[in-house]
Amino acid sequence: MTRELFQRKDKQQFLDLLEARGISDKRVLKAMATVPREAFVGRDLVDSAYRDSPLPIEEGQTISQPYIVALMTEAMQLGPDDKVLEIGTGSGYAAAVLASIVKQVYTIERYPLLADHAAERLEELGYDNVAVLCGDGTLGWPEHAPYDAIVVTAGGPDVPKSLVSQLVIGGRLVIPAGPDQHRQQLLRVTRVAAAKTQTEDLGGVRFVPLIGEEGWSESEAKWR
Ligand code: SAM
Repeated sequence: MTRELFQRKDKQQFLDLLEARGISDKRVLKAMATVPREAFVGRDLVDSAYRDSPLPIEEGQTISQPYIVALMTEAMQLGPDDKVLEIGTGSGYAAAVLASIVKQVYTIERYPLLADHAAERLEELGYDNVAVLCGDGTLGWPEHAPYDAIVVTAGGPDVPKSLVSQLVIGGRLVIPAGPDQHRQQLLRVTRVAAAKTQTEDLGGVRFVPLIGEEGWSESEAKWR
């Protein structure tokens, strides 16, 4: 079997698996079907691109497991005119999934190398509704706020107040959070009024640490 055929077969199994695991939002499934995950991993990992597992990228980080990307995207309850913020660009894959569903995506990555590579990749693939910033995403991107939804793809100790304050009223923040750096609860925090939020627990997850002013400190992350 050629590599292309092999990937197509893998991709169909991967989409079937997302549906079997409960992903039902048609726009999310369509985005997962169209974004080429193989373009966001190293050449040596192309044959593993449609496995439902996280894969290593540069700087010791990971491209998230596809099921988790789909779950978080669905949890954001997105509409086609939405403006969203992603914290933790990594490879740029989840930003491309978001960009296939909403009008505009802003994404922040703390490692310059990852931010640069993701921006190049997204541009080459034609995702012209994504802007990438290198910086501390725990503080958000106030210039473009308010956002209809924010997703954080790294695990922090708490919910960053700066991010909640950059949501529209009714906006959703999806974030893995909790005191254990190796295991978090996936939370959906809805800003129901200017100073009021509602939090739902969507289950246990495992993410790399969110490092920044309103996340873990660098020394805490190294020490553990
Ligand atoms: N969304 C990514 C993708 O599709 O490839 C996967 C992201 S990876 C699981 C988490 C990313 O969060 C890492 O690239 C890490 O460097 C980044 N990160 C951690 N703390 C951050 C912060 N304060 N601001 C921005 N990025 C951060």
